[in-house]
Amino acid sequence: MIAAAGSGQRLGAGGPKAFVEVGGRPLVEWSVGAFTTAGSVDEVVVVVPSGHEGEVEADAVAGGATRAESVVAGVKAASGDVVVIHDAARPLVTAELVDRVVQRLADSDAQGVIAAAPVADTLKSGRAGVIEGTVDRSALWGAQTPQAFRADALRTAQESAAEAGELELATDEAWLIERVGGTVLLEESGGPNLKITDRADLAVAEALLTSRP
Ligand code: C5P
Repeated sequence: MIAAAGSGQRLGAGGPKAFVEVGGRPLVEWSVGAFTTAGSVDEVVVVVPSGHEGEVEADAVAGGATRAESVVAGVKAASGDVVVIHDAARPLVTAELVDRVVQRLADSDAQGVIAAAPVADTLKSGRAGVIEGTVDRSALWGAQTPQAFRADALRTAQESAAEAGELELATDEAWLIERVGGTVLLEESGGPNLKITDRADLAVAEALLTSRP
């Protein structure tokens, strides 16, 4: 399930970020291509801004006001025992990474597995531009997508958060599982898997995508 219903305001493209052209294709199609190629994926559902359902090369449903709501809409439309959530804003995802998170989930008793990267920068806590301390980064990871879950566990966790009025607090689906005491594993993504937020990210992604063999 590919979340592509964001407005892309920070990118200033004048339209949804998922449809911005990168390396000759709309951003979202790089993710659709990776998921379509992944051997572990039977069905691809893309969540798009309402009115754009006909503009992707896969089944599409309309998203919601927040990312978490969009994912709820997408998960409702998806079938299967395992659902893999991915942000269209990460076009460098590969079929290999998708298959690896799904395989890790199949090999475990956990409710989910997420792609992640160890934090590379030295981390400071600070207020008003002054350092208060240095944070031990040895146990810190940057959470990415794809994130694979047992579909029943994810749906139950989404319903629980929605009932508590906390769905909008979720910036990823792993948190929803953490919130109800479930186990989520970290799978090191290995290759570049950057998230496109601004114009500079777009240029970096374009360079990496167009230099692929
Ligand atoms: O806004 P942000 O970059 O955090 O969005 C992450 C992903 O979630 C993007 O791929 C975006 O299209 C998607 N999204 C969504 N529905 C929203 C907001 C964001 O599907 N309402």
